[in-house]
Amino acid sequence: MTNIILLGPPGAGKGTQARRLVEERGLVQLSTGDMLREAKDSGTEMGKIVADVMARGDLVTDEIVIGLIEEKLATAKANGFIFDGFPRTLAQADALASLLKRSGNQLDAVIEMRVDDEALVDRISGRFTCGKCGEVYHDKTKPVKVDGTCDECGSNDLRHRADDNAESLKQRLMEYYKKTSPLIGYYYAMGDLFTVDGLQEIEDVAKSIANVLDQATAS
Ligand code: ADP
Ligand code: ADP
Ligand code: ZN
Repeated sequence: MTNIILLGPPGAGKGTQARRLVEERGLVQLSTGDMLREAKDSGTEMGKIVADVMARGDLVTDEIVIGLIEEKLATAKANGFIFDGFPRTLAQADALASLLKRSGNQLDAVIEMRVDDEALVDRISGRFTCGKCGEVYHDKTKPVKVDGTCDECGSNDLRHRADDNAESLKQRLMEYYKKTSPLIGYYYAMGDLFTVDGLQEIEDVAKSIANVLDQATAS
């Protein structure tokens, strides 16, 4: 069982790397952002509650996201999990620790993906995703091969996220620095923190993460 957290600001490349780890290592990606967007798109009660919060770029309550993760951990069968965009607060980090402990599991590595704010603006403003398979693209750094068509699944449902605008990004960054970045110190103190340079090209970031995982799982 390998359990990893990908930690970093919006646009750092967490989702991109998580998808690779799913393919290469057979882990299951748990993205609270994706789960919340699903709830929103399917129009559930919870989806209605979180829609405005997400559009503004604020964090959804701990209670809601911890509930989502708890449910997935109880039902998904996996060799391990990649937590992508969770935890985002100290309360969520504590909840995750007890959920893992309860099932006799532990955290193997917290990978901080370091990217400066200027690059984040470029990344977020060029991001689009496939509505069918979830592949993540970028206008400049990861374009599709055939205009308007997903390379992975051939779908034409390529979407730009409604919250990927300058105003919401500003608020998401504030939330990140206020509430999420303290987790870097927390996991450092626990001895679980590894930092990779997220400004490298996608392939090189993947190599850095692979090195970290070899190191973390060997010890
Ligand atoms: P990004 O890819 O920009 O990091 P996500 O897709 O992870 O963004 O999250 C989108 C939005 O969903 C966040 O701005 C926030 O409103 C909500 N969200 C996602 N994960 C969490 C979480 N763990 N705690 C609180 N809110 C969350
Ligand atoms: P996060 O999940 O952390 O919000 P994403 O994986 O969605 O980040 O990546 C944000 C955007 O940046 C996407 O458009 C993605 O294609 C692009 N991207 C991801 N990693 C890199 C990288 N190392 N170099 C350049 N662009 C990248
Ligand atoms: Zn697709």
